[in-house]
Amino acid sequence: MAPERPGAVAPSDGVAIEFQDVGKRFGKHADPVLDGVTLRIGAGEIVGVIGPSGAGKSTLARLINGLERPTSGRVLVHGRDHGGAREKELNALRTQIGMIFQQFNLFNSRTVEGNVGFGLQVAGVPAARRRERVAELLEFVGIADKAKAWPAALSGGQKQRVGIARALATSPSILIADEATSALDPQTTTDTLELLRRINSDLGTTIVVITHEMDVVREVCSRVAVLSGGRLVDHGDVYDVFDRPNSEVTRGLVRHAV
Ligand code: ADP
Ligand code: MG
Repeated sequence: MAPERPGAVAPSDGVAIEFQDVGKRFGKHADPVLDGVTLRIGAGEIVGVIGPSGAGKSTLARLINGLERPTSGRVLVHGRDHGGAREKELNALRTQIGMIFQQFNLFNSRTVEGNVGFGLQVAGVPAARRRERVAELLEFVGIADKAKAWPAALSGGQKQRVGIARALATSPSILIADEATSALDPQTTTDTLELLRRINSDLGTTIVVITHEMDVVREVCSRVAVLSGGRLVDHGDVYDVFDRPNSEVTRGLVRHAV
C-alpha cells in the first residue's frame, strides 16, 4: 500500500506507531504536557515508556488511540495520520488498539464473559460467534473457569486477565498497557508480564508498556523510551539505556530500582 501523502510511513515499513515532533498542551497558555516527542515503535516490538508521575505517559497513550489530538506534529498508526479523522474512522482505529489499565476498568454489573464480549456485542457480532470467541479468549488468558463470575469475586490478577481478554477481543494489532501491573503484587506482576510476552510472541501484537517501574521494563521490553516533563530524554535498547543513561532522570530511575 502506498503512503497516503509525502512523508507518511507505509505499513510495509514495519513501523506500528510513529510520533513526529509531537507537542500537546491542554489550553493555549498551559505548559506543554508533551514537547517535541519523536518516537518510532516497530511492529511486533514490546516497548516500554517509563517516567515519573505527570511525565505525560498516559497522554502519549491517548494520542496513540486518538482519544487526544496533538497540538503540533503528527501521530501515525500503521502509517496513517488520524489527526483529521471522523468519529467512525476513529472507532475503527480503536478496534486496532487494545488498552488495559491500572484499575482494570471492568464493568462491575457484567460477568466476566459479559465484560470480554462487550466490544464484540457493540460491533454486532452474533451471539453464537461471540460465545465462541469469548471462550477462546478466556482459555488463552487462563481463566476459562471464571466465565460466569462477577468482577467483585476476582483477585487483581484475574481482573487484569479479564481486562486483557476484553482488549484482545477485536484482535488489535497494538496493545497499550497503561500502568497495568501497578496495582498488582510482584508475583502477579510477573505472571501478567508473562502473559503479555505470550500475546506478543503468539499473536504478533505490538505492545506498549507504560509504567513507572523499572523492573517491569527490564522483565519484558526490548526497547524503552524515557519521558520526563513531556520530553523524551532517553530512548533505545533497554540494556543500553539503563547501562548508559543520557539523562539525569534515567540515572535516577536506575538508581532507585537497584
Ligand atoms: P503520567 O501518565 O505520566 O502520570 P499524564 O499524561 O497523565 O502523565 O499527565 C501529564 C500532565 O498533563 C499532568 O500534569 C496532567 O495534570 C496533565 N493533563 C493530563 N490530561 C489533562 C487534561 N485532560 N487536561 C488538563 N491537563 C491534563
Ligand atoms: Mg498515567
